Amino acid sequence: MRSYSLIAPAKINLYLEIIGDRTDGYHELAMVMQSIDLADQVDIIGSGDERMRVHCQSLEVPNDKTNLAYRAAELMAKNFPDAFAKYGGVDITIHKHIPVAAGLAGGSTNAAAVLVGIDLLWNLGLTQIEIEELGASLGSDVPFCIRGGTAIATGRGEQLSPILGLENVYIVLGKHKNLAVSTPWAYKSYRTVYGDTYIRDKGDLAVRANAVHSAPMVQAIIHRDIPEICQRLHNDLEKVVLPEYSQVSQLRTAFTAAGALGTMMSGSGPSVFAICESKVHAESIQQQISQEVADKDLELFITKFISHGIQVLSPQ
Ligand code: ATP
Repeated sequence: MRSYSLIAPAKINLYLEIIGDRTDGYHELAMVMQSIDLADQVDIIGSGDERMRVHCQSLEVPNDKTNLAYRAAELMAKNFPDAFAKYGGVDITIHKHIPVAAGLAGGSTNAAAVLVGIDLLWNLGLTQIEIEELGASLGSDVPFCIRGGTAIATGRGEQLSPILGLENVYIVLGKHKNLAVSTPWAYKSYRTVYGDTYIRDKGDLAVRANAVHSAPMVQAIIHRDIPEICQRLHNDLEKVVLPEYSQVSQLRTAFTAAGALGTMMSGSGPSVFAICESKVHAESIQQQISQEVADKDLELFITKFISHGIQVLSPQ
């Protein structure tokens, strides 16, 4: 039986602006997303029966139907019943390296890998756009995780415009192991505090969506101007997460004090990234932070920007 191993990279948000409420209950967003080379490996093989199964050693990751990777397999079975009848279910093994519930799209990128893997396993021949459209129904970050690189993301985050990406920009990523921030909580809190600034009229929402403040960030990326990118880092969710989670704001302050070019929380947190001049600079910042913060719960990763999303390692 054929099997596929896929690399499923995490993402960070270089820019996240909340525009307002949408009629579907989600927030209208303007983001700049960046893939990083911190990645999970997802192995997919035909299960030999009609069942879908997920295996993951990480205790924080559910092995049942609530796993986003399982839901991706179910979606494929529902959309392609003839292929499902012909090829049967799949066994999905997730080798977890991306911190869980960290604002790094760990679940979304696993789901993205399953969509790409099943397309291959079942010989469906879908286009990337078709796979991204399926992914959008699972989660707003899934289409970006499939495509990867650097992209402007609007709507719920599922509408993508690629930007000529940045590669090999080194970052240090920090995440407190026992700290998880719920994404729905972060957006709900933002709505509670800042909801009166939202544009209510749907027409006006479209106007505001066209006048978001991400343009200088996009320009800086196009010009590969790292100091300017660092100046333009922005995340509206910091306004609600930092006051509530002191470890996150302390880590951000520590990164700045250690000489990071720029630092920001990713997504709804609690992970925080620090942009560095080089790998050597990243190593020096990592060392300083681990000495100064001296918190056993804090995990630090050195990683870098990459220009791809899901990659097929090898058919076996
Ligand atoms: P989001 O922004 O979508 O909340 P995140 O990147 O902050 O995502 P994830 O790592 O995707 O966080 O985990 C969010 C929750 O989803 C976890 O608490 C976990 O229980 C659940 N989950 C379901 N499937 C997965 C998966 N494949 N990998 C990690 N977590 C998963």
